[in-house]
Amino acid sequence: MSALERGFKSWAERLSEGVRRDLSVSPSGALDPYKLAAHLAVELLKPQDILGIPQEVLDQLLEKDPWGWSAVTQIVGKRTIVIFNPRHSAGRRASNVMHEMAHLLLDHEPSKIMLLHDGSLVMRTFDQRQEDEANWLSGCLLLPRVALLRVVRERKNTQEIATEFGVSEVLVNYRVRITGVAAQAKSASRARRTG
Ligand SMILES: [Zn+2]
Repeated sequence: MSALERGFKSWAERLSEGVRRDLSVSPSGALDPYKLAAHLAVELLKPQDILGIPQEVLDQLLEKDPWGWSAVTQIVGKRTIVIFNPRHSAGRRASNVMHEMAHLLLDHEPSKIMLLHDGSLVMRTFDQRQEDEANWLSGCLLLPRVALLRVVRERKNTQEIATEFGVSEVLVNYRVRITGVAAQAKSASRARRTG
């Protein structure tokens, strides 16, 4: 994560605000990744929804290795399809789908997936910088600074924040820590008391 420039992080905050504006969501409100997908004309599918998917691939994705993958994006003609893992929790699913939206918003080339003879799938392309960017942007879209500042000031706990934004508590704790909003809210309220 350290490789990201400061400029990228503030750009991500601005993008998150712009996307919310497009979807008539307040800057500190919850952004539904499924609504963003619809807005970007992305089709969201579970593996079992894919017409003609071989049974051994379904078995691999849903039974043999249900925790080994999150979501993948495929461009088929003019369609952009995100296949997500339905076995993950709702909060994880939101992050997984938003991660793919982030790749699309960043104009990243989707990974090519290849099916091996034993039915397992491998990603042909993996670019650490692109993954870092998508992870950061995805977290920022789900929990931008301005939203975190609001909920911290409202003294909401991790669970309440996770519920309001439809994300995992792990992501809430990570974003609160990495953005430094807890300290920022504390010093702002101290300034208000003394000022
Ligand atoms: Zn990715």
